[in-house]
Amino acid sequence: TDMFQPKHADRSKVYMADLESTLHYSLRVEAARPAKLSGAQLAAFKCYVALLVKYFPGRPCVQTYLQILDGWLRNWTEAELPRNALKEAMKNNRDASHPAVLPTNVTWVGCQGSEPQFRGYPCGLWTLFHLLTVQAAQSGPDKELPLEVLNTLRCYVRHFFGCRDCAQHFEAMAAKSMDQVAGREESVLWLWSHHNEVNARLAGGDTEDPNFPKLQWPPPDLCPQCHKEERGVHAWDEPAVLTFLKGHFSPANIHLDYIE
Ligand code: FAD
Repeated sequence: TDMFQPKHADRSKVYMADLESTLHYSLRVEAARPAKLSGAQLAAFKCYVALLVKYFPGRPCVQTYLQILDGWLRNWTEAELPRNALKEAMKNNRDASHPAVLPTNVTWVGCQGSEPQFRGYPCGLWTLFHLLTVQAAQSGPDKELPLEVLNTLRCYVRHFFGCRDCAQHFEAMAAKSMDQVAGREESVLWLWSHHNEVNARLAGGDTEDPNFPKLQWPPPDLCPQCHKEERGVHAWDEPAVLTFLKGHFSPANIHLDYIE
């Protein structure tokens, strides 16, 4: 498929094609850039894959792929992991009785930009991150391991995210307030509000796709009940936002368009 072929996307939906493209790019391209992984960088990678196994609501072949990669990484007890060994372990296995396949093509649907330099992977990574915080909030007691997802994402960004400016900005936001997050639902809202902080900072800048202006999200047409006014000033209705995020980033709202 042509990466930039126009596709119909609906802003109220999440697309599996974006999520799988993001996983492929993050695991096989971004994380496989260093000649070898070791120390905190290797730990960050193992942690990220273990998190995906736990919370990524993937198709069966993708879940099997992640489980096998996670098992392989757990068995890798040497201090250094050379890129070639990792790349070999990240190949698809279509022939097994349970196929382990993460597609190797990159197809942006909801994250497709109007030009190749816009959107794509960074958009997919935000989408994946929100999805993971929501899945964790749906799957266990609120006060148990509230930072499990955010800490893992923070480590991934610090050690791997190719946009180094972005990584620094994100680390600065995390250092300021992430440790105060006391519940899984609060972690969903932390990521949402800090993503909006990034949207506000980038609005009108030269990385903004003219067809996708940076908004405070979700805009009123997606979630009217998320917005309210307090003494004439706009305010978020946070419980309504949380409910909206749980619905938007739920398996039922992940659409399989453009998946082969
Ligand atoms: P994105 O901002 O990528 O959002 C993707 C999708 O998520 C949107 O289409 C929407 O459906 C949904 N969404 C939007 N806002 C929210 C929200 N608040 N909560 C939940 N869902 C939302 N670029 C820079 O130039 N400088 C930076 O410092 C920078 N830091 C970044 C840090 C991180 C961790 C990441 C992942 C990206 C960063 N980027 C940065 C890239 C930038 O934020 C955008 O991802 C990129 O410009 C593409 O924008 P987009 O229009 O596709 O929407």
